[in-house]
Amino acid sequence: MIHVILMGPQGSGKGTQSERVREQLYLAPVATGELFRSAIKSGTALGQEIKAIYDRGELVPDDLTIALVADRLDEIAREGREGGQVVGALYDGFPRTAAQAAALDDLLARRGEKIDAVVAIDVPREELIQRLSGRRLCSVCGKVYNVVSDPPARLNECDACGGTLIQRADDTPEAVSKRLDLYERETAPLVGRYAERGVLVHVNGDRPIAEVTDAIVAAIRERVMADSAPRR
Ligand SMILES: [Zn+2]
Repeated sequence: MIHVILMGPQGSGKGTQSERVREQLYLAPVATGELFRSAIKSGTALGQEIKAIYDRGELVPDDLTIALVADRLDEIAREGREGGQVVGALYDGFPRTAAQAAALDDLLARRGEKIDAVVAIDVPREELIQRLSGRRLCSVCGKVYNVVSDPPARLNECDACGGTLIQRADDTPEAVSKRLDLYERETAPLVGRYAERGVLVHVNGDRPIAEVTDAIVAAIRERVMADSAPRR
């Protein structure tokens, strides 16, 4: 089974692209937030452990995260064996740190598999700041707008209920800028790791959604095919 990591800062459209790419390439999602939630819901021993960590407001440690990812990969492989169309996994929001990336490498090595492609969605910083700081929220019904890409019919007024639109403190250009800095600091070591190995591909995310999807799909296909080509 193939393993693909999709990376991109908030505002890069990673969530949307993840869904579209998965559909086109028959990849199953491996999203840790989702795995945590479903483990808690299932009430298993691991789920209870994670719930206790959540309740204390702490971060789930890497060994538990990796254990959940391992289970998820087994589930995806089973689905493939049982006649499903799924051919691999698309990681979204994981790994986040160098330690997690190393742990994922170990896990895949034990399965005789490896990361086939890592796609980084690049969007110029000014564009990200503009997209994210354009976000407005209805103070009455909570509907979300974007003054640039999805503006309300009347300035600062909710189309649905007429409520006043507000900007959350998290969405000011300063706050957005800080979050982007943090993302870059966190992911720089990962980008370096995968670039060294020759599996990293950069895709320009500052284009229409469908074009970005095409570019990502092409990049993944190319990486996977380059890998399966016979060696001389
Ligand atoms: Zn409203």
